[in-house]
Amino acid sequence: MLEELLQLQETAVEKILATKQLKVLEELRVQYLGRKSQLRQIMASLGELPADQRPKIGQAAGSTQNAIKTAISNQLKLIREVEESGSHIDVTLPGRVPISGTSHPLTKLSYELTDIFRGMGFELFDGPETEDEYHNFDALNTPQDHPARDLHDTFYLKDGGLLRTHTSTVQIRLMENQPPPIRMISLGRCYRKETVDATHHFAFHQMEGLFVDHNVSFADLKGTIEAMGRQLLGPRTQVRFRSHFFPFTEPSVEYDFSCSICSGENRECRVCKGTGWIEIAGAGMVDPAVFESVGYDPETYTGFAFGMGLERIAMIRYGIDDVRLFLENDLRFIRQFSKIQ
Ligand SMILES: [Zn+2]
Repeated sequence: MLEELLQLQETAVEKILATKQLKVLEELRVQYLGRKSQLRQIMASLGELPADQRPKIGQAAGSTQNAIKTAISNQLKLIREVEESGSHIDVTLPGRVPISGTSHPLTKLSYELTDIFRGMGFELFDGPETEDEYHNFDALNTPQDHPARDLHDTFYLKDGGLLRTHTSTVQIRLMENQPPPIRMISLGRCYRKETVDATHHFAFHQMEGLFVDHNVSFADLKGTIEAMGRQLLGPRTQVRFRSHFFPFTEPSVEYDFSCSICSGENRECRVCKGTGWIEIAGAGMVDPAVFESVGYDPETYTGFAFGMGLERIAMIRYGIDDVRLFLENDLRFIRQFSKIQ
């Protein structure tokens, strides 16, 4: 009978240690420790044994039972550990590729421009997209009878507010709350009542900058715009200023960057249309009337401001020919920018 117990223990432990499934382990437990198991039968028959053999066989049966129990609990622990660690996963199966997002081209450009201006000591400020007429027009020297205030040019809200038509509103809000010196940029969405086509949209993005201090000159403006152009489009980029009019700057200019695609050498160039220059946006020295409206003394301080449309720069840079693509959320369009840094 001792032999039988040893044999039983050996077979049971071997089978238990070989299983990797909880279900099979449970079946083995019933088979070797259950009420109808061989071990239980041996234990039940102990009383029929001669008295001198009983303690020895009893002890051996107890030790077999313990060995089987220990094997089961160890194997149970092991199977659970394997399941939790995930190492039961078949690594030879083809993997599932995680869907990773990508930044929108305008977001990428925003980050890049922010970095460029931060490098020159500018700070980024944000402002509301729903504005009042004062911050969007009056404070920017755009009086009631100015054509830019035509109802057809802007979205007016029922409560008398409006959707901002430019990010210059942030400049006003900052100057109202902070004395010079100011060196700020703001970025964000703006609105105009436009009929949507390949080059116009009712929603677009602007970046603006403002620098106010003692003795800020037009040369500072030129140097800043030039530094931006060279970092954005390459070190050989040149800047051209053309005289222009804006109500909130005097003098005002529009500025162009030299074409980074053809360097002015391709008459057929799609980006510069053969002129060698790409129109970027407007800038100028802050009009003294704007300083007065925010309580700055125009005799003490001077400053420059500049702005640009992000869509325009992104279209030039990535060769995009339809402005509507930026706001359609078509993944076939957006996914193309996942590899562009
Ligand atoms: Zn060109």
